Amino acid sequence: MAANIRTSSIKTLRSVRIHDEDPSSLWDISFARNNSETTISPSKSATIDKKEEEDSSAPLVLPALVHPHIHLDKAFIHGSKEYSDLLPVNGSFEEALHFTTLAKKRFHHDDLIKRGNQLVTESVAAGVTAIRGFVEVDSTVKMTCLEVGKRLKKEWKDICQIQLVSFAQDPIFSGQHAEENWRRMEDAVRDPEVDVIGTTPYVESTVEASRKNIEWAISRAWELQKHVDFHIDYNLNENSEAMVWHVLETLRKTGWTASATKARVMLGHCTRLTLFSDDEWGRLASTIHDHDLPVSFVALPTSDLYMAPLPVGENFKRPHVRPRGTLQVLHMIQALSLDTVIGVNNVGNAFTPWGSVDPISLACLGVGIYHGGKPSDVAMLYECISTRARAAIGLTESSVDIGLKTGYQGDLLILPNVDQTGFGQTRPKQTVADIVWDPPEVSTREVVSNGRLLLKNTAMNRLASIAVESIQDS
Ligand SMILES: [Zn+2]
Repeated sequence: MAANIRTSSIKTLRSVRIHDEDPSSLWDISFARNNSETTISPSKSATIDKKEEEDSSAPLVLPALVHPHIHLDKAFIHGSKEYSDLLPVNGSFEEALHFTTLAKKRFHHDDLIKRGNQLVTESVAAGVTAIRGFVEVDSTVKMTCLEVGKRLKKEWKDICQIQLVSFAQDPIFSGQHAEENWRRMEDAVRDPEVDVIGTTPYVESTVEASRKNIEWAISRAWELQKHVDFHIDYNLNENSEAMVWHVLETLRKTGWTASATKARVMLGHCTRLTLFSDDEWGRLASTIHDHDLPVSFVALPTSDLYMAPLPVGENFKRPHVRPRGTLQVLHMIQALSLDTVIGVNNVGNAFTPWGSVDPISLACLGVGIYHGGKPSDVAMLYECISTRARAAIGLTESSVDIGLKTGYQGDLLILPNVDQTGFGQTRPKQTVADIVWDPPEVSTREVVSNGRLLLKNTAMNRLASIAVESIQDS
């Protein structure tokens, strides 16, 4: 699929908005000839009050989007004919695990390529140019998902950077297949195309095995100098031991600090932490800060909200009481200085049957979940799906500011103001808040990757009339 996406070089995006203190300013963005470095300068057409018609149509340009956590092999199981008998029945977590195991037994190369390409194509269309993508390695799928992940990584490399996670969704230190699962992971993590070691300590059958799972992943990641990424503390049970403490303790014993390595540590889900007291949160933050631990958290709200415990058993007597828990991203950043981002996790499967691959829809959901309606909060939510996400997965160490500055080398998302109704009615969206409060349709967005415009069917016409000074076909 990637080979079918045409691209074009760009000289200048003229008279566009950027995220700026003065939203009435218009800017020109020029691209260096041989790389994606940009020069940002005030537009000659100056400020907005000149020609109202032209000004209201000036597109907003922001840093492109990032998936810090998404599963490449489990996407769009729902909607595929061959899995039509595996749609949710009671929607429980156990059922999702069971149905996914059954689905995995039917995974094959062409099917994985097809669904993976669908996922990446839809993501790129939405504005995503970097992905941390999980592929499972175990006794059921063996190395098939990894091989497909490697092929997707190679085929998309000029348009979307895929950081590959060799992922143990299954236990590696308990259960019937532990030995084979562990052995296959040992092989997979040494593959030079694998960038990240991912495991799921909570699927182990004992706390002891969960601890061993954490210790193995950290030890192997440190030895190979790769990132490590845990699905962890995914429950709302106050009586369960939070494994995050064991992760931090193991990192400390290993000597894994931000100043010692560029390899990073990601903790995903962590819904159990929403039951922490203020003291526990304080202790968590000070442990990370005092010991210089390069730890980030990724909230996965569409999965977390859906997978929260169902009102069964005792709880069924109160079916209207449905506790939900997902990391409070804005509070974690603002009050605790904990590095936190937001990810899609899954689309079209039993863990997350709802939602799309569009990260802006997640930021929009965050406005409600985190009570983040004020413009500065909304801008931070955009950072969490863009610049902060890129830094958290270790692709950049540059600023998380979404206001473009000269020298910016990342990719861009262009948001033209166009009629979305089909009836000739356009409602201009001019600030990042306008975009996050009410995300524009994916088909209206344009994407610049590696300094080149991705040519959707609409791009040449739309951008020729709005912003692009010079496009050369290639
Ligand atoms: Zn996940």
